[in-house]
Amino acid sequence: MAKRVDHIGILVSNIDEAIRLYRDCFDAKIDKIETLPERGVKAAILSLGQGANLELLEPLPNSNMARVLEKRGEGLHHITFEVDNVDRELSHLSERGVELIDKKARPGFEGMVAFIHPKSIRGVLVELCQKA
Ligand code: ZN
Repeated sequence: MAKRVDHIGILVSNIDEAIRLYRDCFDAKIDKIETLPERGVKAAILSLGQGANLELLEPLPNSNMARVLEKRGEGLHHITFEVDNVDRELSHLSERGVELIDKKARPGFEGMVAFIHPKSIRGVLVELCQKA
């Protein structure tokens, strides 16, 4: 069961400009910024206070995410629910016929994560995360 919305993932073409925008317009604070070659992105977690976070994602050149950015442009990419146990939620969803992208939890930017196919969630890419 989802405990809360952990963060909203946003695809951007330039992470430094996007960070400045969210900082200047919404007073967001940078929690973490890292390059994640295995996910093909440079990612930043921005805190808006009271546990509300944004995850900005700038694709690395020639990555799958670069192709997504090229095709769809900047904007909302995914929404992330925090859960107690990602693998338990995956089997619960799978039993209900929900199509999974990840069959098992894997290490993510923050803790263990898994993605659910947007086809099964009304066009929304959903990430589950379990904090370490
Ligand atoms: Zn995310």
